[in-house]
Amino acid sequence: MSDSRLEARLAERIRAEGPISLAAFMAVALHDPQDGYYARRAPIGAAGDFVTAPEISQIFGELIGVWSALVWQRMGRPDPVILAELGPGRGTLMVDLLRAAAALPEFRSALRLHLVEASPVLRAVQRDRLAEARPVWVEQVADLPPGPLLLIANEFLDALPIRQFVRTGAQWAERQIGLDAAGRLAFVSGAESPAAGLLLPESVRRSAAAGVVAEICPAALALAASLGRRFAETPGAALFIDYGRSASAPGESLRALLRHRLVPVLAAPGCADLSADVDFAAFLNAARESGAAGFGPVPQARFLAALGAEARLAALAERATLAQRTALETGLRRLVDPAQMGALYQTVALLPLGTSAPPGFEDGTS
Ligand code: SAH
Repeated sequence: MSDSRLEARLAERIRAEGPISLAAFMAVALHDPQDGYYARRAPIGAAGDFVTAPEISQIFGELIGVWSALVWQRMGRPDPVILAELGPGRGTLMVDLLRAAAALPEFRSALRLHLVEASPVLRAVQRDRLAEARPVWVEQVADLPPGPLLLIANEFLDALPIRQFVRTGAQWAERQIGLDAAGRLAFVSGAESPAAGLLLPESVRRSAAAGVVAEICPAALALAASLGRRFAETPGAALFIDYGRSASAPGESLRALLRHRLVPVLAAPGCADLSADVDFAAFLNAARESGAAGFGPVPQARFLAALGAEARLAALAERATLAQRTALETGLRRLVDPAQMGALYQTVALLPLGTSAPPGFEDGTS
């Protein structure tokens, strides 16, 4: 792990410039063009560092296809409509979504696929697997063309850089990345700053005791705000699925995963995946403040059940061999079992103000 070329480059930068913010560290560790995690690796799957819902069960992407089709119908069946996915990974969710969408040919033919993907390695996989749908890649949501939009993002928000603050008596100080006596990367405390405290949600500021760490994700809040502004003017819907907390609360969640195991956060920059819990309350607030309606969070289990997960399983099982049936059942259980991914993962939806709750979000907001 200590052979990380990026670790040496980061140490050199810190020696020259002084400590850097955690967000700057994460941006480099994940996206450095030469040595960043997403620049070099194929992270997802048994041979990678983590496994995601669409890789576990085809039913996941299919039901998101059903969700998209239902929302499109409620939008008044716009044609064309932009279908955008943020961080499509291996393209599996989109393959399954498009197969389900084909059941409604007018919907399928209205879709114009746009992908927001930072990783050249994953872009190449997506190009192979989604060639038929002729995707267009863009750098960020702001680069999507105007017009009606359906946007999907599974496990995207957790990969965005975060900032951490430590409560120091009456104030807060930003946690930074510096060097220890041996010249290795280490967390250091920045200067105390009242401004740092102001960035945190009110409830976090009030509840934290000395020494407690609190996290914010400015990139996720900026994304929510930009979608909020878009939906204040243009029809659309955005669905986010991720793990995180329903209410803003202090606590440290940043983690590094290397081949399905947790490793220390600073131990393997560029080699380990880095992610943090999503603060869904802050995300929804940012969208609402800029003019959108926000729904959820709804636990993944409830969302998938509302969209007909069991009926889809039964339909697939009818045509399956015994071994395939067992795999389908095990896969879906993993997604909905509260002890596995069913409660840990949550869904939120953003739509124009005044829209009624979309499918899966009808019975309450939490
Ligand atoms: N949605 C996929 C992959 C999740 S992993 C799945 O469910 O399997 C996170 C994805 O987001 C990867 O495709 C990664 O390359 C992409 N990603 C991470 N940060 C990004 C950023 N800032 N801009 C664009 N894509 C990003």
